Amino acid sequence: METVRSTNELSSWVESWRLENRTVGFVPTMGALHEGHLELVRHASQLADRVVVSIFVNPTQFGPGEDFARYPRNEDQDSELLQEGGCHLLFLPETSTIYQEGHSTCVEVDTPAKRLEGESRPGHFRGVATVVTQLLNLVRPSVAVFGQKDAQQLAVIRRLVRDLHLPVEIASHPTVREPDGLAMSSRNANLSADERTAAAAIYRALSSARQRIEQGERSAEAIRRGLREVLEGELLIDIEYAEVVEADNFEPIRRLRGSIVMPVAVRIGTTRLIDNFSLEID
Ligand code: AMP
Repeated sequence: METVRSTNELSSWVESWRLENRTVGFVPTMGALHEGHLELVRHASQLADRVVVSIFVNPTQFGPGEDFARYPRNEDQDSELLQEGGCHLLFLPETSTIYQEGHSTCVEVDTPAKRLEGESRPGHFRGVATVVTQLLNLVRPSVAVFGQKDAQQLAVIRRLVRDLHLPVEIASHPTVREPDGLAMSSRNANLSADERTAAAAIYRALSSARQRIEQGERSAEAIRRGLREVLEGELLIDIEYAEVVEADNFEPIRRLRGSIVMPVAVRIGTTRLIDNFSLEID
């Protein structure tokens, strides 16, 4: 595995592969890698001949007072994991490489970025859409892989790629979970033992909602109430949202039908966690 920090080095590697007619897959991350990220890398290596992974804790997608400063960073361990995980090229840019002096262009997606994460974290998706557009332009992969764990982000990126006619296929990978169902997340490292135990309620809430839907419940309100009831059973959990929305635009629905997502965001102590289940309803 090669590691590069400059856009010139990145371009020359990618260009050399293109001259050899090798396809390029790309996995953007913010580092502090876990098995979920490594699954995306494996997925990318099934879809392309060469895999590029970026690690960049993107300052513009964090709001004031959010956890940018204490976001976990672990470059040496990440590098080892990627080396074993089948990554060919690790792109580790400095902030000043991505946001050059005088940077003043942003990418703003409307629907499906407006609600939920868009409301809870104003400016978050502008930061995500801007950095992902830049990274896609720098790497120019044929395919980029994103996790379903960040379902709204995935919907935003699919919309962005479609609307701007970016020449890349967007692939997704299911959420990788701990044995008790908690979605793997770099932020789980910030949970105390009690908070970690409480966090398992997110998966229990989503599982019980899915079970009710499988048993025939079609009222979105009943499902929202059920999600909240399970989450409220854990004293350490503060609910930010627990919703049922249409999968492509993330707008709330009344009757469940078609492709839906149940996105949940909670705070446990000072840590914010998100998760979701996606379902197809006949
Ligand atoms: P992050 O480093 O948190 O920005 O995530 C980088 C990519 O990994 C995004 O596409 C995430 O959706 C994905 N990802 C994060 N956690 C998981 C997980 N538990 N399972 C699958 N993909 C994940």
